[in-house]
Amino acid sequence: MKSIIILGDGMADEPIEALGGKTPMQYADTPYMDKLAALGVTGQMKTVADGFHPGSEVANMAVLGYDLPKVYEGRGVLEAASIGVTLQPGEMAMRCNLICVEGDILKNHSAGHISTDEADELIQFLNEKLGSDKVKFYTGVSYRHLLVIKGGDKRLDCTPPHDVPLHPFRPLMVKPEVPEAQETADLLNDLILKSQEILKDHPVNRKRMAAGKDPANSIWPWSPGYRPAMQTMQEMYGFNKGAVISAVDLIRGIGVYAGLEVISVEGATGLYDTNYEGKAHAALEALKTNDFVYLHVEASDEAGHEGDVDLKIKTIEYLDKRAIRIIYEELQTWDEPVAIAVLPDHPTPCSIRTHTNTPVPFLIYKPGQEPDAVTCFDEFSVLNGKYGVLEKDEFIKELL
Ligand SMILES: [Zn+2]
Repeated sequence: MKSIIILGDGMADEPIEALGGKTPMQYADTPYMDKLAALGVTGQMKTVADGFHPGSEVANMAVLGYDLPKVYEGRGVLEAASIGVTLQPGEMAMRCNLICVEGDILKNHSAGHISTDEADELIQFLNEKLGSDKVKFYTGVSYRHLLVIKGGDKRLDCTPPHDVPLHPFRPLMVKPEVPEAQETADLLNDLILKSQEILKDHPVNRKRMAAGKDPANSIWPWSPGYRPAMQTMQEMYGFNKGAVISAVDLIRGIGVYAGLEVISVEGATGLYDTNYEGKAHAALEALKTNDFVYLHVEASDEAGHEGDVDLKIKTIEYLDKRAIRIIYEELQTWDEPVAIAVLPDHPTPCSIRTHTNTPVPFLIYKPGQEPDAVTCFDEFSVLNGKYGVLEKDEFIKELL
């Protein structure tokens, strides 16, 4: 049977007093998720392996059945894949933020959400001035770029810049975890300081400051890794062809290593104004020629990070009525049965505005299968579901 996973990033939450003790998933009006839960089977999945941070890349790889301790190489390599950079043996990739520093303070991790065009000019300039046989920068999206170091040693202690706004940056620079990585750490710290010297007076930054915007006046490399030893999903599960639809570069990069075709949808923004219908129709189109489709929608996570409960409810209702409804109703008219799974990757509770590692609710609907007793879809309803808490590749194997 063909199958589709519809993933609402960060959709799970915790009970909220202002919602009468309900979670946004419980409070939101979601007739289609509830219907699929009623027709299908449900449970919880542990998406964050022990010892891992609850990042989206960690959780999404787990949903697809990857054994994180074996294959995890950080974000840099996944984002590299999403922009078409294939790492060679001996190369180390790192996420390289363009950040804003003010004096000795790391003001923000995003250089005021700099545009990709402006950032591209700065990244080209960094390559000209600091690039070499060993050091190369690649433009990604907005403030999120890539640094590849030939012969780099990844055993480094790096600080994600979004965790330390308004902290002094010097104590947070790269430290070696082992003596052999000292040389790499020195190289990276030298690049950080040199980038500050050359970026501060760049015309792009002068223009930004004149307009009252934050300059992108430093690089900040973190999350080092080598080419991941990920098998494709075809190799792991034996299907022929799969596809991924996501606006998020990290998820698209996972798709590349997972052997999935990466499909772009016009108007897919990763925010609550994303083109839900376009993504739903693209997923249906992809299902005609693929055995497996992974449809990732970021909006709920963003609402959680903003701590905006009303917006989060709206994103969940949009996912239900503007994506799941379209997919479910269209599939009813197909001769070939298609299994549908719905789940978040991790909770992003509005109260704490960041991810947690609490197991997430999931539902699996396969036409013709015996349903369990659960008739609506949320964090608590699924506790009465068929499965209990699934781990590792148990969920994806159940689906495929
Ligand atoms: Zn996520």
